[in-house]
Amino acid sequence: MLVVYESNGKSASRIVRIGHERIENECIRGRACMTESDDNVVLEDTDRIHGRTALVNNVRAATSLAGAIRSTLGPRGLDKMLVEDDGEALVTNDGVTILEKANVEHPTARLLIDASSSQDRAARDGTTSTVLLVSEMLQNALELVRMGVHPSIIVKGYSIALEESLKEVIRVSLDSKEEQKIQVVNTSLRGKGDSALCELISGLAIEAANGLVGQGEGLDLERFRVKRLQIRQGSVMDTSLVRGLMLLKSRVDINSPPDSKGGKVAIIDGDLEKSKLQTSASIEVGSLGILQDFHDREMQALSNKVDHLSSLGVDLLVTRGGIADEAVSMLTDAGITGYRRFEKSDIDLLSVITGANPTRSINSLKESDIGKYSRRSEESIADVKHTLLEGDGMGMTLVVRGSTPNIREESVRIFDDAIGVAHRMSSSPGILPGGGAIQAHLARHLRIFSKTQSGREQLAIEAYASALESIPRILAENAGRDPVDVILSLSADQEKSGPWIGFDIMTGGNSDMRTIGVLDPEFVTRHSLSGATEAAITVLRIDDVLWARTDPSTPDWGEEELED
Ligand code: ADP
Ligand code: MG
Repeated sequence: MLVVYESNGKSASRIVRIGHERIENECIRGRACMTESDDNVVLEDTDRIHGRTALVNNVRAATSLAGAIRSTLGPRGLDKMLVEDDGEALVTNDGVTILEKANVEHPTARLLIDASSSQDRAARDGTTSTVLLVSEMLQNALELVRMGVHPSIIVKGYSIALEESLKEVIRVSLDSKEEQKIQVVNTSLRGKGDSALCELISGLAIEAANGLVGQGEGLDLERFRVKRLQIRQGSVMDTSLVRGLMLLKSRVDINSPPDSKGGKVAIIDGDLEKSKLQTSASIEVGSLGILQDFHDREMQALSNKVDHLSSLGVDLLVTRGGIADEAVSMLTDAGITGYRRFEKSDIDLLSVITGANPTRSINSLKESDIGKYSRRSEESIADVKHTLLEGDGMGMTLVVRGSTPNIREESVRIFDDAIGVAHRMSSSPGILPGGGAIQAHLARHLRIFSKTQSGREQLAIEAYASALESIPRILAENAGRDPVDVILSLSADQEKSGPWIGFDIMTGGNSDMRTIGVLDPEFVTRHSLSGATEAAITVLRIDDVLWARTDPSTPDWGEEELED
């Protein structure tokens, strides 16, 4: 483990690197004083850093951020232990999780974290690579600035390099065959958990994603169409996917039938309770008859609601709120099975599965709000009643087994990543070679391409190419290999046998990535290249940093000394 945590007493912990000098706020203020004149009244409440100092500071922040996650890249990457102020610990090697949990205040570092979060949201993978790429692009840009190349030229060169890389990515990519999809999802999960578990979950994720084909475009479709249900009993390897909505619930009346072959369902986003009096209201009871009358009217209201359900042909009632005890037998007598206290997310999923429209009250329920279900069954799992509801609409439940919350939550996290990739694969099926192959190929391609460009932009394109090469280099480093040797042999082998030859971390040699099944989704690589380039360009365009005089701070971890 490389990372330890310290607490500053008031907020979450920060990453500190042992043995490196901390960058103190005073250092920024000190430089600011050297570069700024005293008579700038407009900016008197800010500290100002500009020109090359701003760039150096920003690159330093990016480099140290990347340094914190560099060793996690690839299946042989190491894990980090994240410790919260309250002592809660999480072990992970997922780049975006590490960065989002770290309490980072430096604006440039935040920009990189945003790039990584955006990668996570859009592609569900490639988060570590994105941050590493931004940092390498910025370090190489700083070298060029030191040689006298203006940042605006570098920005132009980087934009040209990105455009050319995206074209080349499309040229190299292939449409995935069915059996390759599982390899793609598996590659994206490598290093995230036990390999047999990852393989099982990849299969379930592909199955779930196939079920969602043609169900709409929303990127978050896979989040609310697949419920995650954790069950304490059983081994994690018994985790399964069922069609329909499975939940830890049993019907309100044990006398109603436990299962059904289908019928009509009403979903109430409210309750079937007796009407409650306003807190300020009071009834003056003059005689016993008044109380009885009041009670009768309440019962009549409940009975009217049950009659209304019956008249619509409903035989299954699901409510978000409660069902009054008095209504339980009325429902059973009317041939309606009731379930109460559903979570909002379960209501939403059931609505998709059955086509029922959730309404606030039974009185306002119309014919068109009623949905259809095709099966209802109750099952005892380790003595606890669970209910499964199925319909024509596509909704599924991942039943996650495992004896400890940790193993179950890890499985859910792995499934979330897996289905994220699998679902996107169905609309964007292109694949690319993993193992740093595509980046090594792009680097060689860009170096040749740069010769067609004029002047100093050529230098920027070459700098961009070297930044891409950092991916195979770091993969090699993390596998304990010599990065220079790996790059040289990879380049030579690709020259001979094409871009699908990559570095196989498991053997330390080069192989065709299709043969060993190390395949990256094209959309992950494309998004990562665009996001990283955009973030690097944003930082390169900054030549002035104004710090409000509140409490400016830089990350506490330093990676390399970057002299101005
Ligand atoms: P990210 O957050 O960027 O996805 P990962 O830690 O998941 O970072 O590492 C992804 C990288 O690891 C990809 O470039 C992928 O091609 C590579 N990779 C995965 N499995 C292998 C393998 N067996 N050999 C070589 N590289 C691999
Ligand atoms: Mg990954």
